[in-house]
Amino acid sequence: MRTLITGGAGFIGSHLCERFLAEGHEVICVDNLITGSLGNIEHLRNHDRFTFIRHDISHPLEIDGPVDNILHFASPASPVDYLRHPIPTLKVGSLGTHNTLGLAKLKRARYLLASTSEVYGDPEQHPQREDYWGNVNPIGVRGVYDEAKRFAEAMTMAYHRFHHIDTHIARIFNTYGERMRLDDGRVVPNFIGQALRGEPLTVYGDGSQTRSFCYVSDLIEGIVRLLYTDFHEPVNLGNPDEVTILQFAQEILELAGRSGSIVFKPLPTDDPRVRRPDITRARTLLAWEPKVGRREGLSRTLAYFRERIAGQRTG
Ligand code: UDP
Repeated sequence: MRTLITGGAGFIGSHLCERFLAEGHEVICVDNLITGSLGNIEHLRNHDRFTFIRHDISHPLEIDGPVDNILHFASPASPVDYLRHPIPTLKVGSLGTHNTLGLAKLKRARYLLASTSEVYGDPEQHPQREDYWGNVNPIGVRGVYDEAKRFAEAMTMAYHRFHHIDTHIARIFNTYGERMRLDDGRVVPNFIGQALRGEPLTVYGDGSQTRSFCYVSDLIEGIVRLLYTDFHEPVNLGNPDEVTILQFAQEILELAGRSGSIVFKPLPTDDPRVRRPDITRARTLLAWEPKVGRREGLSRTLAYFRERIAGQRTG
């Protein structure tokens, strides 16, 4: 099996590279390193079944020989990152999806698109089921990500319906774990970094907005299962255990063993009020559900960031 992963040097991408190598695949990791990093794949670089190609997938890519699976995970994915790179975000979701689908068609490869809970925008249905069409502001600041992913889903379904490509769409909800970037601006690295440095935790708004956090190993298992089904419509992958951001801040302070304080900052524009996946479809179709609770997942992530921060201090 030969598996190509775009965004393979990113947070989730690097875990996928690892997983497919462990399953005996040859892995081709494609990344332009705009938000990914070589550090994420350092431990894989010498593997004889691993190849890294530095390439912006918004431009076409030619690959010699057969390819069995393509997983399109390239994109800035944190609000801070996609606000910093709005045009590359739009391009990788649209042109990058087109290019990877074109490659899948040429190689007759299985295809999986990394979509997102952001396709539901600021949802008026709760929890979110896959048949909900969403509430997205197309011209808002988050529109660059949300609309790119919505377009990507439309393009993927078109390649399935018109070219009969074996495509799959994972709608990924908030995921966290080792190899997230400490400075990606998302709530998990922000809060953990702040707690470990003894700084106040920055809660945006009044902290009553909710999210549901999935540990990365659970997500990877769901993705691999989805890739091998014959189901082509979107499937939510995430942990339905919902928490307010204020409660989440308190949990992280407690886990970090700090009595630290919380400061309130303005809520970013179009920040969704609630988010929780309905995972009935994934449960039924994939016999999958998350296994790692927040406490355990956050403890592992804390240990990872603690090491990173110690490394920054000594390095
Ligand atoms: N958030 C926060 N403090 C931070 C970073 C994020 O309160 O330092 C909030 C943010 O406003 C949002 C939630 O945490 O309501 C999750 O934000 P994140 O950037 O992780 O991703 P999102 O789920 O919004 O895509």
